[in-house]
Amino acid sequence: MAGIYVHIPFCKQACHYCNFHFSTSMKHKNGFLPALLNEIVLQNNFLGNQSVETIYFGGGTPSLLSADEISLILESLRTNFLVAPDAEITIEANPDDITPEKLNAWSRMSINRLSIGIQSFFEADLKWMNRAHNASQAEQCVQWAKEAGFDNLTIDLIFGTPTLTDANWLFNVQKAISLEIPHLSCYALTIEPRTPLEKMIRKKTAEGVNADDQARQFLLLMDWLNNAGYEQYEISNYSLPGKHSKHNSSYWQGKQYLGLGPSAHSFNGDARQWNVSNNALYIQSLQKNIIPFEIELLTPVQRLNEWVMTSLRTKEGLQLNQLPSGFGKEIISGLRKKCIIYQQQNLVQETEHAFILTREGKLFADGIAAGLFFEESEINEDVFVAGSLHT
Ligand code: SF4
Repeated sequence: MAGIYVHIPFCKQACHYCNFHFSTSMKHKNGFLPALLNEIVLQNNFLGNQSVETIYFGGGTPSLLSADEISLILESLRTNFLVAPDAEITIEANPDDITPEKLNAWSRMSINRLSIGIQSFFEADLKWMNRAHNASQAEQCVQWAKEAGFDNLTIDLIFGTPTLTDANWLFNVQKAISLEIPHLSCYALTIEPRTPLEKMIRKKTAEGVNADDQARQFLLLMDWLNNAGYEQYEISNYSLPGKHSKHNSSYWQGKQYLGLGPSAHSFNGDARQWNVSNNALYIQSLQKNIIPFEIELLTPVQRLNEWVMTSLRTKEGLQLNQLPSGFGKEIISGLRKKCIIYQQQNLVQETEHAFILTREGKLFADGIAAGLFFEESEINEDVFVAGSLHT
């Protein structure tokens, strides 16, 4: 089983907090589609004969492309890869692009999951983030999506902005629950380097984030959604039964995926590669039938640490019978030693088969994962036996 990610690198306007690769200039939009279609053909052996179970249009803003353009891309993917007939096909869309016509067209081409970048139902938050949509569009598009039959629907919400009170945060979450949205991705606002927001905070033209407010809103969120029947199956992802994102879950399970488009990342089980984050260079290179990417072969320790990083964020935690291949009981005892300090602080608990973050531990997931990482010098031939479990 494998997945395909397609990056659409255009946005109407730049959200102040965003550090994804995108351009607000449409100068290269016409050159982008032929380049992408060419990349699909050039990469048609990347996944071997694996069945493609998930396709994800992300960005940027995929909903900026016309339905015909999305259809062409999907057609080419189906021609060049073994796309399963029941594949989960997700498109990210912004509320201001969503119309009943587009929804119906996406549905006709078997797109069966919609991810809407709502972020907040409040005008003040949306303005502060410099989102292109307004509060009424945020609500309207959900109604339209449901009318078009998109029952596999997810929205993004952001908390921890200076404009968001706890009462408004409760309103946003309750609004999502009352709209019967089956999947939510909820993120604390982070200040990424070189974003407009980071510059504004540095120049004191915008207020920074308050870590205590963010922690409190995260704990409130977990309680509210848990009480409403949502399962927190990954730190930032909550779903009603049967509505997990298969695509994102496959990243966390270490499955192979192909990324297409500028800045897209791929993973073949041994190496990660990523395309150039520049629309003009991407197009120029593909005009010469060259995919512009860099590649990094992962060492066993890097694979182990990636497994720690991603698995720790899931509800299953670090499952000791799911260690990356080549690792065995020495790693389990190493992990056990590293975990003691977090267990003493009630941030991690050990179950029969796993180390799992506690409710409090979820506040510090990245820091705890970093604390559990292994150094290259800790792993020697006695611990790692390539290609076999050494238990
Ligand atoms: S629409 Fe999405 S990708 Fe585009 S700037 Fe905003 S957050 Fe970033």
